[in-house]
Amino acid sequence: MGSPVSNKAPSGERISFPSLRRQMVEHHIAARGVRDELVLDAMRKVPRELFVPEKLREFAYEDAPLPIAGEQTISQPYIVAFMIEALLLKGNEKVLEIGAGSGYAAAVLSEIAADVYTVERLGPLAERAAALLAELGYDNVHVLHGDGTKGWREHAPYDAIVVAAGGPQVPEALKRQLKIGGRLVIPIGADFRGQELVRVTRISADEYRDEDIADVRFVPLIGEEG
Ligand code: SAH
Repeated sequence: MGSPVSNKAPSGERISFPSLRRQMVEHHIAARGVRDELVLDAMRKVPRELFVPEKLREFAYEDAPLPIAGEQTISQPYIVAFMIEALLLKGNEKVLEIGAGSGYAAAVLSEIAADVYTVERLGPLAERAAALLAELGYDNVHVLHGDGTKGWREHAPYDAIVVAAGGPQVPEALKRQLKIGGRLVIPIGADFRGQELVRVTRISADEYRDEDIADVRFVPLIGEEG
């Protein structure tokens, strides 16, 4: 991997990314209640510094969202961990992500799942994420440039679906692309200032169970069913 082990901060001080990453996982993620070892281990592995703009690398392990291209953001690490934990993965699943953005969450998912399919609405972001994921060797991540409110039918059904952008309701197409027993985690709410994080479990061909799992804030989901 082309991961720099350390960088110089503007102050001239050396930054060790692996040690910052370990600290972030312990202090911001495990300490705040994420317990799933599969998720914590995946977060310990993925070099977030490579998914943020180069000039913001030194902030990669502050538990905060950061701006990326297209006026989008790479999500806060705690939220990434919380949402992935909420998918209740055991390892080896087929997972769909809507909103690839930088590709960071897809990389974390790919450390747990067998295959990750991720859809991004903005072409330049989709291209960049696909190139970076390939360069870093995340061969089980597949990136599509398109409208994620329609899912990715070709590879459906999925064990789990995670949506990284908030909309007013759960897109029907995504519910229909879940396996029976599959879980969909999505921020819901028309109000840009805040949303509920909802987990939808497909109980049978036409029954779903909804649970509110947290209050969150995301960039808007823009698309046909957004
Ligand atoms: N998972 C990303 C977070 C990106 S923010 C990461 O780890 O970096 C949410 C992303 O969702 C943005 O890149 C935005 O362009 C994308 N998005 C919004 N609406 C979408 C839609 N309908 N289909 C696909 N992507 C969408």
